[in-house]
Amino acid sequence: MKAKVDQDLCISCGLCISIVEDVFHWNEDEKAEAIAEDVPADLEDEVREAIESCPTSAISEV
Ligand code: SF4
Repeated sequence: MKAKVDQDLCISCGLCISIVEDVFHWNEDEKAEAIAEDVPADLEDEVREAIESCPTSAISEV
């Protein structure tokens, strides 16, 4: 799986980064961004938790 953050929806709350900082990070616009590569298999559960927890549903699985 890959994860993607809709930059128009992200409100920079930081939740996804706190859940799985090896996948999400801040970009130069101070929005969350996912790594471009495939999510490592051992982090997929955390990424799904971030998808479900994001307050604006900005994260999607692609
Ligand atoms: S949880 Fe959602 S709104 Fe918060 S920083 Fe991550 S993508 Fe942005």
